[in-house]
Amino acid sequence: ENKENNKITSLSFKNFSRIFKMKIGLISDIHANLPALKNVINFLKEKEVSSIICCGDIVGYGPYPNEVIEFLKGIENFYSVCGNHDWAVLGLVDLNVLNEDARRAILWTRDVLNEEGFEYLSNLPPKLTGPNFMIVHGSLRDPIMEYITGPDVYAYSLPKQTRRVLFVGHTHRPIYYTATSTGLINPSFFIPERPVTIEVESDLRYLFNVGSVGQPRDGNPFSSCVIYDTKKREVTLYRVSYDIEKVQNKMKEVGLPEFLIERLKEGV
Ligand code: ZN
Repeated sequence: ENKENNKITSLSFKNFSRIFKMKIGLISDIHANLPALKNVINFLKEKEVSSIICCGDIVGYGPYPNEVIEFLKGIENFYSVCGNHDWAVLGLVDLNVLNEDARRAILWTRDVLNEEGFEYLSNLPPKLTGPNFMIVHGSLRDPIMEYITGPDVYAYSLPKQTRRVLFVGHTHRPIYYTATSTGLINPSFFIPERPVTIEVESDLRYLFNVGSVGQPRDGNPFSSCVIYDTKKREVTLYRVSYDIEKVQNKMKEVGLPEFLIERLKEGV
């Protein structure tokens, strides 16, 4: 780990506490999908969030890696952790663990990503800890790679969860779990397609998977995003539409795998 990463990872957020004591926008798994990202960021800004945090996977799969990174750099109070695709582009993941389409997209991304893009990805920390929340891509046990697919997997992260709310991405499926102080994890609740608000109660801990901006996989092709209102102690999940065909055409143009193009329309 280099110094830069350590500095960002251990950021106490003391100086930033003001922006995290208001509404925080949470996104994940952008996957180089610029039209989807733009619509989600516009939506969050209209809702007057004071900061935006991404749970990783900025690139991979999609056709706009340089444009997405450039756009993110222009957002005020934007932070992100590192995802497995970001790591894969940097050469930090064995490409054999990825499926054929994902691997081809990583190799394509490496080919086209500019120097600033590589530098940006290499400075992403694996974990962020705020005054009342924690952020990782996968899980607290394994921040980059582990998929929290159920209560049994979440149980391994719970001892490391020192804040009431943990936000993750990685599975591309919005969902949440609650855990009691004794570590009993309640059955997972799938978040439906309509905007839904969950009250954060002080005697429970929470895991929210915020879903995906650029490649949703829960059968709804619209982008997922979340607002955490830290004053009202409410978490709300929203879905935002974007021009899917435009992204598909760009993917065809640059020669990304057919299945990755098709799945956007179905949200799988
Ligand atoms: Zn992803």
